This record gives sequence, C-alpha cells and structure tokens, in this order.
Amino acid sequence: MSEKFTGSFTQQEPIPDAGIEAALRVLRHGRLHRYNTAADEISETAALEEEFAKYTGVKYCLAVASGGYALGCTMRAIGIVPGDKVLTNAFTLAPVPGAIAALGARPVFVEVTEDLTIDLDDLARKAADSGARALLLSHMRGHICDMDRLMAICNAAGLPVIEDCAHTMGAAWRGTPSGRHGVMGCYSTQTYKHLNSGEGGLLVSDDPDLMARAIILSGSYMLYGRHRAAPPPEAFEKIKYTTPNISGRMDNLRAAILRAQLSDLPTQCARWNALYRVLEHGLAETPDLQLISRPEAEAYVASSFQFLLPDWPEPKIRTLLARAAARGVELKWFGGAEPVGFTSRHDSWRYADVQNLPQTDRILAGLIDMRLPLTFSVEDAALIARIIRSQVSAVLQGEVEETDIVLSAD
Ligand SMILES: *Cc1c(COP(=O)(O)O)cnc(C)c1O
Repeated sequence: MSEKFTGSFTQQEPIPDAGIEAALRVLRHGRLHRYNTAADEISETAALEEEFAKYTGVKYCLAVASGGYALGCTMRAIGIVPGDKVLTNAFTLAPVPGAIAALGARPVFVEVTEDLTIDLDDLARKAADSGARALLLSHMRGHICDMDRLMAICNAAGLPVIEDCAHTMGAAWRGTPSGRHGVMGCYSTQTYKHLNSGEGGLLVSDDPDLMARAIILSGSYMLYGRHRAAPPPEAFEKIKYTTPNISGRMDNLRAAILRAQLSDLPTQCARWNALYRVLEHGLAETPDLQLISRPEAEAYVASSFQFLLPDWPEPKIRTLLARAAARGVELKWFGGAEPVGFTSRHDSWRYADVQNLPQTDRILAGLIDMRLPLTFSVEDAALIARIIRSQVSAVLQGEVEETDIVLSAD
C-alpha cells in the first residue's frame, strides 16, 4: 500500500502572538502611516528598519511595500534609466525581470548552472560585452553562487551588483550575510518568504547617497529625518529636489507583525534547514535523480527544495508529477512549455528580447521544485522523500497506474 501525504504546501505558520498583539496596538491607536507618530514616538516601521539593519550588520535599511518595489527602487537609486541593459539570472521568478522591465530597462539573462546558481563564466562574458549597466543578482531558491568570484568579475567590469535576497534572508556566504556583498540588497516579506507580512520588502545598503535616494524615492516627502537606520541629513540635501517620490512605503501594521518575527528568524532558519536535510538524506542516491550540491562557504536557509531529473523525457516527468500529486506531494516543474503558477521562465517573459540560453533550457527541462513551509514536521519531510523516491523508481520501471492514464488524457 502506498503512503500518502495530507499536508499543504502553501500553508504557513500563524503570526506569533507577540506579532498579533503588536498589530492590535497599532490598530487601536490608528497611526498606521509610518510618518504619523505621536510626539517622541518611534514608528514601528522606523524601529523595524533599525532592527533589520542590526540583524544584517548594515548601516542603512529602508522598509517598503514589496520585494518587487525594493528591486525597482534600488535600480532607480543607482541610476538605471529606460533603455539600459541589466544583467540578471535566466533562472529566477517573474518579479525580477518584471522589475527591470518596469523601469523601461532591458533584461539580459545569464545562464544557470547545475548548482542552480548564476553561471559565472557566462556572467564574465556578458559583463564584458553586453553593454549592461548593472547586475540584478537573484539568489534564486536560496542557492548562493561563489560570491567572491562574482564580485571580482563585477568589480573588474565596473558593474554595480544589486542582490535579490527574496530567498536568502538569514543566509550568508563565507560569513557575510546575503545582501551585503553588492551595493544594495533587497528582501521580500511576502507570505511565502522568510518573514510574513502578507506584502512587504526591505532594502539595505552601506552607501549613504544610494540610501538617501531610495528613501526619497519610497515616498518620504521631506520627513526623512524620522528615519533612524538612515544616512545623515547632508546626504538628502544633495538630492532632495531631483529625486522623484514614487510611493511604496511600508506601514506600521506590517512592520509591527515583522518585528515580532525577526527575533525568531534564526530559530526558523534552523527549522527550515532541518526539514531540508531530512529530504536530502531521504533522496540521496535515488537512481536518475540529482540533488543540488551546496558549497561549504554557503550558509543557506532552505525554505524550498529542488532536484534535477537529468535528461528525463517530458512524458516521464509528467507521469512522476501526477503520481506524486496523487499521493499529496505537490511538485513544481520548471520545464513545461506553459508556465503554471510561479514556474515561468525566460521564454515566458516575452517583453524581454529573445535570448539564446541552451544551458538554462537543458537544466530547467529537468528541474523540480517544492516549497517547505514550516507547518511541515521532520516526519512529514521524511514521508515526502519516501513518496518521491518510490514514485521515481516506479516511473523508471515503467509501472503504469490508473492516474497516469487519466492525467495524460487531458
Ligand atoms: C518573491 C520574490 C520577489 C519579489 O517579492 P514580492 O514581495 O512578491 O514583490 C523577488 N524575487 C524573487 C526571487 C522572489 O521569489
């Protein structure tokens, strides 16, 4: 008899009680807008920025409306204008090329490796000859490339690096927190990320001029003096008349929810990694299934799990997905011609120039992805691994069952 998993791959944990209480305090006093403060009051948003700056060890932090907004805001702050080319990962999620396109700029995609990180040889080539003005580096699914080599390539080419840390909040490369290698780092606090405020984003930098611009861009009017994890007034004086206000602030309600979660983040990261290791162990040495290698220097936060089915033909992959789904295991596949849910890829982003990415196409053709919400227990992770393992072997042995026939008919 085959086992079945009954949990939900999209169910997050509830907001901790301290967050609910903090949110209620904000609702009761009614000052939700970040600049709506009583005398001497430090807004929840300003306090969150200070706490997140401390957590990442950075000088300045800005809380904004979403991770996607943070990406656009940082690109504006570094001076990307319509028509500019911006390098980015060919394997990432839609908000990344979308943020580039929103500025009227043009994404130039860099190939992915079998480690699911940006291909540094392809990056070196494109940094030298694409004419791009910046790299928007997505640490997609939490996989961190060799950041020492990446920074050496980009520094040599004079390319500013913006880090998209939507999947690496709490992670580090050789001890430096993700988001602190480039000129600016962006995080998302949307429900499926490492902190959950429904929507929200954070942006960090040590550069006073860039952060002053980002703060004005985010919609600070001339109230930037109320920020705490912010550069001194002189930094704003230089740019306050020439920087447009493109509102995308965070509010005190979201900040209150996030502050309560931030203090638990290290514990949560450890819980994600415990689930990940159980899955990794459970799937080790499964025939024809390739795990993703994780370098020694990478301190990851594994809020999702990926593996490769190298050179599997499409019908076999579809059969595996169907058989896993029939046992409650929701696998996402990045190889389908049509995007499903979040699995779009470079050839689905048709606002961008058509690009030839054979290596990415080959890798994505066998790439399977799954979320690991913290509502899963380690026993759940072990069960999921057993189900995947047994179904991979059933598909390889050519076993057929009723669901295969039903699902291949539509
Ligand atoms: C979620 C996500 C974003 C954007 O975050 P939002 O808060 O949803 O705008 C950016 N990059 C990646 C890789 C993401 O997964």
